[in-house]
Amino acid sequence: MGLLGRMLARADEFRRAPRVVVYEPDNLGHGVAFGADLESALINLPAGRMSMDPGDPDQFARWLDAAGDAYVPRQVFGEYLVDEFWRAVGQARALGWTVDVVPETVAALGKGSANELLVRTPAGVRSFGQVVLGVGSGTTADPYRLSGASGYVVDPYPLAATLPGIAPRSHVLVIGTGLTAIDVVLGLLHLGHDGRITLASRTGILPGPRPQIMPLDPKHLTIDAVRRFESLGLGDVWELLKLELASAGFDADTEISWLLSSASATERLRYQLDRLDAAPIQSIFENLETPVPPMIRAALSADEMLKVAFDYKPYLKSIQCPMPPVSARKLLAVMDSGQLVVAPGITALRHRNGRFEAVARESVPAAEVVIDATRLSPRRTKGRARGLLDSLSAERLASWNSFDGLIVDPRTGRVVAAAPYRLFAYGEITAGELYYASSLPAVVRGANVVAAELVRHDNEVGS
Ligand SMILES: Cc1cc2nc3c(=O)[nH]c(=O)nc-3n(C[C@H](O)[C@H](O)[C@H](O)COP(=O)(O)OP(=O)(O)OC[C@H]3O[C@@H](n4cnc5c(N)ncnc54)[C@H](O)[C@@H]3O)c2cc1C
Repeated sequence: MGLLGRMLARADEFRRAPRVVVYEPDNLGHGVAFGADLESALINLPAGRMSMDPGDPDQFARWLDAAGDAYVPRQVFGEYLVDEFWRAVGQARALGWTVDVVPETVAALGKGSANELLVRTPAGVRSFGQVVLGVGSGTTADPYRLSGASGYVVDPYPLAATLPGIAPRSHVLVIGTGLTAIDVVLGLLHLGHDGRITLASRTGILPGPRPQIMPLDPKHLTIDAVRRFESLGLGDVWELLKLELASAGFDADTEISWLLSSASATERLRYQLDRLDAAPIQSIFENLETPVPPMIRAALSADEMLKVAFDYKPYLKSIQCPMPPVSARKLLAVMDSGQLVVAPGITALRHRNGRFEAVARESVPAAEVVIDATRLSPRRTKGRARGLLDSLSAERLASWNSFDGLIVDPRTGRVVAAAPYRLFAYGEITAGELYYASSLPAVVRGANVVAAELVRHDNEVGS
């Protein structure tokens, strides 16, 4: 998603007209997230943050003819993506570039002669000088191995296909409390479900509502400050964050204690909704200079990164992957009415006598339906990219960090283990389980890095 547009943004810099082949069997343009579905499934960023062109941040809002703060159905955003894709194809062809769209799944990658990569599809094998992986996110995890049990929904998408068959009075238990789980709840409510809905996960932490981002200018969590440390530790990062909060006029201890609070999901959501215009931690994160987070990640020791992954990730994810405030208000209303219950501490889920029994911190009534709203890292996917990823291992074209992220050079997007073959990747596969690299702005940034390297190489080879 986005690569052709980012290449076109540098069209003048290419010496030779690029020849591009796009392999996509059925989600052309809109990808997995933005296909046709229920209108209750909203984009989780306002329209003003969803432009495919970083140089023209209002592009999507203009296409939509709506204000930049609108949260629209994801399928509407998908229509914009499809428009943008074909506009880019037309523009590229008008410049004399070749763009072929091949509706096939790539089954495997292999090493060819002269550092060319071989792309294998059911229709045959083609050889390329450069290959870019943009294979998206992982599939659901089926953590309790219930696939095949009657009443178990293995994958909630498209919601329009999976939810309408569910009896409106049934008790639906959703495994997971992230954005997919929120999609399921809103989809069920949209369809008139009036039975109990339980969201069960280990932590019970929901995405927070997306607040208004204050235009803070970081003074402590800066490139210079991070560079000044000989060895940066997690404690130093917390101290810098506290200084940042204090200089923005907030009580650092209060803010951090709410970030890491063990309050119930309902209390947290109510607190966050009451403070949509005073959310300094999100505002600081969003205003950081782009290199700061990767610099911090690179500086922390392996043990400290594990601590981030296991102790802090659920809290950080809840503010990094927020939901639209309108969704949060709907959720809070059904939590207050008792229809929606968040059950933390789930340790087991069994299918017995036609019903599902969960073991969680507090007792959960048996459910008639269970919906898997978990997500594997892209490396572990059971979906379309499986064969391709297996071939990367078999051909020694990939190495992975301990969080399942494909290791790429952040300056070029090149897959490090594949050198001298020119294999690139961007999006969630490069992040694994640890960081949220799959929001649209992050994906477009990744595409931009790859496009810059394609230009650089073209110039080098052409000179
Ligand atoms: C349910 C859901 C909701 C989301 N909502 C939002 C949101 O509201 N806002 C936001 O910013 N981000 C959202 N995201 C994140 C979203 O994934 C990114 O914004 C962005 O769409 C990712 O783009 P991508 O190109 O990396 O992957 P995708 O758009 O997922 O595209 C990957 C494509 O690769 C294809 N593919 C995979 N393997 C192969 C193969 N072997 N051969 C050929 N093709 C293959 C797939 O068919 C797929 O179409 C959401 C993600 C999901 C899953």
